[in-house]
Amino acid sequence: MAEAPPASVAQAIRDAAEKLAKTSDTARLDAEVLMSHALGVPRSEMLVRHMADAVPSTFAMLVERRAAHEPVAYITGTQEFYGRSFIVSPDVLIPRGDSEVLVERAIAAKPDALRVFDCGTGSGALLLTCLLELPAAMGVGIDRSRAALDVARGNAAALGLGQRASLAGADWTLPGWSDPLGGPFDLVFANPPYIETDAIIFPDVRDHEPHEALFAGPDGLNDYRVLIPQVPGLLALKGIALVEIGATQASAVIALAEVAGLVATLHRDLAGRDRVVEMTLRR
Ligand code: GLN
Repeated sequence: MAEAPPASVAQAIRDAAEKLAKTSDTARLDAEVLMSHALGVPRSEMLVRHMADAVPSTFAMLVERRAAHEPVAYITGTQEFYGRSFIVSPDVLIPRGDSEVLVERAIAAKPDALRVFDCGTGSGALLLTCLLELPAAMGVGIDRSRAALDVARGNAAALGLGQRASLAGADWTLPGWSDPLGGPFDLVFANPPYIETDAIIFPDVRDHEPHEALFAGPDGLNDYRVLIPQVPGLLALKGIALVEIGATQASAVIALAEVAGLVATLHRDLAGRDRVVEMTLRR
């Protein structure tokens, strides 16, 4: 005889959390987020009002997808970053809490920034968050992925930034790529690919997120090697550049910045790991 379906949302969440615990560190949260997605109501409202409801027929399939390591953000199509909801798809890296320190530093260091540039914008999370926090600023975001730019444009429109964010196709490995962008910029930032090609990483990431946004050669430094020498040409005189780094890459990235004639400082994320290298022109 087939197993009886769970009688309520509460029971289905409990069952799903147990199943997902094998593959996810955040099983209960995943189950709640997937259920609120299936119900079409915010999680907070679900927890207060819908726990005794019947289980939506789509829920079991969402749980199966998550059990097969698909990230929750790709299943629901959204990810929260800096307190706001962003559209995501498998064409873009899922914005991570680790990157919020870059935004915090950007707005603290340059509250008067007028021109902001994001290299490899993906979903647009970094650029669009900065523009919302810096209401006088205009932003340019580039990506070599057309599909990513479509996601970023969707986010810009959804956040009311269609007029303040210009999103363009460009590839920083090609000569002259930045000529049409209208620099220099008060703030330049990038969360480039920085994972070592052979690194052992979670299947959730390796099997689902875009490899061109993750991997950057045997030591993960390929994109910094190309980008950092170009930073002086992008920065306004008192501008600052911020790049996200992997936790073990600080000294290598700082060395690249110094060779490029920049002054570098390091910032840690909330977990205390090296996460952002800040660069300014030497004065
Ligand atoms: N921080 C991401 C991760 O560890 C990597 C992001 C990147 O390569 N830019 O999954």
